[in-house]
Amino acid sequence: MIQDIAPHRLDNAFAVKEAKPEHFFFTFHKGKALLQKENEEREMLPRLSQLPGSFETWKEKAVYAFSVDEEPMFLILENDFQQEIPDDMEYTDLRELYQSRLRWAALAGVTAGHLNHWYREHRYCGCCGSSMGFSDRERAMICPDCGNIQYPRISPVIMAAVTSGERLLVTRYAGRAYKGLALIAGFVEIGESLESALKREVMEEVGLKVKHLRYFGSQPWGFSDSIISGFFAEMDGSQEILLDRDELSEAVWLSREEIPPQKNDISITAAMIEAFRTGTVK
Ligand SMILES: [Zn+2]
Repeated sequence: MIQDIAPHRLDNAFAVKEAKPEHFFFTFHKGKALLQKENEEREMLPRLSQLPGSFETWKEKAVYAFSVDEEPMFLILENDFQQEIPDDMEYTDLRELYQSRLRWAALAGVTAGHLNHWYREHRYCGCCGSSMGFSDRERAMICPDCGNIQYPRISPVIMAAVTSGERLLVTRYAGRAYKGLALIAGFVEIGESLESALKREVMEEVGLKVKHLRYFGSQPWGFSDSIISGFFAEMDGSQEILLDRDELSEAVWLSREEIPPQKNDISITAAMIEAFRTGTVK
């Protein structure tokens, strides 16, 4: 899955660190990350020293985000980066980054994108409208006027691999770019447990009851500011599917033999489908 970058390690413990010219940085525009164009060194992440103008100005703007293998990485917020981009850089879709061989850079990019999204939406206090500032004690934004504290927004999502004996319920999304096999998934609503959210989503999307929920694992998914919790669940009662056509274009039961091997090793969806196909999860 996307977080599996061993032997590398992403350390996102909060710290206040000073930027140096050789440090990597991220900045974003309309959801795309500023990366180096293809180069012989295959280095994709830009360094602060590559930015034009005075380094002192960039140092002021660079916010420490996290480290990968002791290498500190910084974020320059979108609103603080108003200028022409250097010729050897371009804004790139993050999905290209995670299709690259540099898996640690993909995780770093998606995590930085999640942080950027949160900072951008919390520049002003939702209570009194004042400008928010950075906390120097924890990853939070604080309002200097009314004391409102905002922590990073991480939305919980459940994913359900529904089984019936030797068959798995797989779906395809309606109206999304991703056309591969999917599993039932949805955001947890306020007041719900993960288990009740899962039962509600399965009922809403395919009209089935489920029982015997078994936790599979979780995955951070910064593209949608979320954390996905994956469960296997057994169908309970009628297997007649009532498809929610707004959400899904298809939902079918596939036997282990009918499921194609999953090439994608980034997503929890593929990990769960593959676990069923290979019999790792019965
Ligand atoms: Zn306030």
